[in-house]
Amino acid sequence: MFADTPIDSIVFNDQQVFVKRDDLLSKEFSGNKARKFAYFLENDFPGKTGLVGHGSPVANSLYSMSALAKLKGVSLDFYVDHIAEQVLQSTTGNYAESIANGANVIDVSKCEDRDDLSVIEYIQQKVLPDNEHLLFVPEGGRCEYARFGVHKLAQEIIDWSQQQSLPMVHVFLPSGTGTTAVFLSEYLTLHSDNIKVFTCACVGGDDYLQLQFDELLADRSLHPTIVDLGKKYHFGKLYKPFYDMYNQLLASGIEFELLYDPLGWMCVEKLIQQNTMMPNNSSSSAATILYIHQGGLLGNETMLPRYQRKYG
Ligand SMILES: *Cc1c(COP(=O)(O)O)cnc(C)c1O
Repeated sequence: MFADTPIDSIVFNDQQVFVKRDDLLSKEFSGNKARKFAYFLENDFPGKTGLVGHGSPVANSLYSMSALAKLKGVSLDFYVDHIAEQVLQSTTGNYAESIANGANVIDVSKCEDRDDLSVIEYIQQKVLPDNEHLLFVPEGGRCEYARFGVHKLAQEIIDWSQQQSLPMVHVFLPSGTGTTAVFLSEYLTLHSDNIKVFTCACVGGDDYLQLQFDELLADRSLHPTIVDLGKKYHFGKLYKPFYDMYNQLLASGIEFELLYDPLGWMCVEKLIQQNTMMPNNSSSSAATILYIHQGGLLGNETMLPRYQRKYG
């Protein structure tokens, strides 16, 4: 379905860092979600006439699911906890584009039969029963189905590392649910002996992320290494260092998104420091760093104006 994505490189803090351009995977899908939804793209779901999803009304996953549903000719009912007035009024970004794709975004706080149920309980108790024609996709594509597309990404990385004859590769990608990182690490640990996966928790903390890994994959020896900066950043909030990092990367030639990537690159900064500060570690034996650009640029249409208002 998708061609292999290119690998570029940028100079970051005086060091060459390679970037896997999954942001170029597909116009319709954020790179990360395209990998996680590849199974659905390549397989039909007989008897299903609609997708059911849930999560944030400004998420990349809403937009990607709306694109998937449109492509497959099925409906999308996407359940959310609440929609802010300013999101309802937006004309660009994930929410607006999803509505344009035909998504039904359902605000559960406005459903009269809610009875104190969480969004996920509401779906399980009120939506899915007696509706065999609906296919439920957990938040952010956090499910077994994601393995298929993420393993293909992993194989592309192995092929590249072999072509370049790299002795050691450290792959870095920032995590939300951790689904991409854990399945990537699973495949790379089993199919290579010189590639290791590092990630960081952008949503919740390290404990939350570890829990996500454990739920998806019992064998901890296959899990990625979690990098921690020792400071808590709340998902979706604005931080000056994030904006500075975004601008630094933009000046190096590649635009990244503003929710996950700034924290991701701050962790890469730390990895580089550790790598070069290791005793007896000449730069030739230091690992090559490969950062996975997971797309999400559509979200910048709403995030950038917020940053510009706050920091100029
Ligand atoms: C969804 C998303 C993530 C998080 O992916 P997980 O598999 O949930 O960890 C990271 N970056 C971008 C751009 C995303 O859209």
